[in-house]
Formats: sequence, C-alpha cells, structure tokens
Amino acid sequence: MARNTVQFQKGLSEAGFDDLYGSEAKRRAVVTSWRWPTGFLCPVCGGTTHSEVKTRGLLQCSACRRQTSLTAGTIFAATKVTLRTWFRAMYHLTQSKQGISSIELGRRLGVTQTTAWTIKHKLAQVMMERDADKQLNGRIELDDAYLGGERSGGKRGRGAAGKTPSSPRSKPRQKASRCA
Ligand SMILES: [Zn+2]
Repeated sequence: MARNTVQFQKGLSEAGFDDLYGSEAKRRAVVTSWRWPTGFLCPVCGGTTHSEVKTRGLLQCSACRRQTSLTAGTIFAATKVTLRTWFRAMYHLTQSKQGISSIELGRRLGVTQTTAWTIKHKLAQVMMERDADKQLNGRIELDDAYLGGERSGGKRGRGAAGKTPSSPRSKPRQKASRCA
C-alpha cells in the first residue's frame, strides 16, 4: 500500500494527532506500513503471511513460526520507550518552529534528557537518511532548524560541533545493524 506517508505537518492539532496516532493499534499500523510498505516479510524465511501474538505484541511468521518484534531493527528499538512516546516526540519536534531542546523534550515526554536526546537524534538521522531510501523512509517532516544549536551532551552525531547538516546529500554514516 502506498500509504506510508506520515502526516506530521506543522500545525497538526493535538486533536488531529490523536485521531491519527492516538491508539496503540493505529501507531502499530503506521509502523508496520513503514517497515513493510508492501506487506509483512519474514526476516528469516521471507514468508509473507503472519499472525499476531497479541499478548506480547509480536508478529509470527506463518511459514517458519519465527516471532518478530515490530520495532526490532528500527530506530524505535533505540530506547526502551514506547511507541506512544516516540510518536509524541515526533509531534512535539514537528510542531515547534525553532526546535526544542532535549531537556524540554524530556520534560514534555516524561523521560530523561538523555533518552530525549537519543530520540531526537534518531529521528534526525531518519530525516537525513530518507533520501537514501532507507528503512523507515516514511516522510517524517521534521524541521531542519532543530538539528543545529544543541551542543551539550553532543559528541556523537554528525561529527561537527554545530551539527548543522551541510547538505541533504551528505551521506550519514551507515548503521551496522539494519535488516533489509
Ligand atoms: Zn518465516
């Protein structure tokens, strides 16, 4: 299905956000369509049919019975926070014109500044990589503005102190573990 466009435009109201992503089922459906735009694909055997293990939120391949987490191998596995927190982070990061600090983001999400920093930078990475047609290439329309400026807790990321992306074409470092 061609519906892997994420509607995190600026100006999306909280009510609109809730309509789109307010339930776990909706969030999982969106993530599923990002991860498997043409439908489920078993990472082990390539099977295309699955069932859901409701109690654990896992997808089980109907062919080889391997159970796969929806978020394994995606940026959402970068922290232990829930999809709800990730989506709320995307909301907050896209609604602010000048960007928000990881301290402020952490405060709004109820997570530590370190976790907020990770979330923010993982999302920035996705934005940077989307031209390269990577996994999770949904159009997460984050504002470029928030990429710059943050210096405390830095070090990682794009290398340069200011962290301003030089151009959309500058290729970010490839991540080692990325399932195809
Ligand atoms: Zn399988």
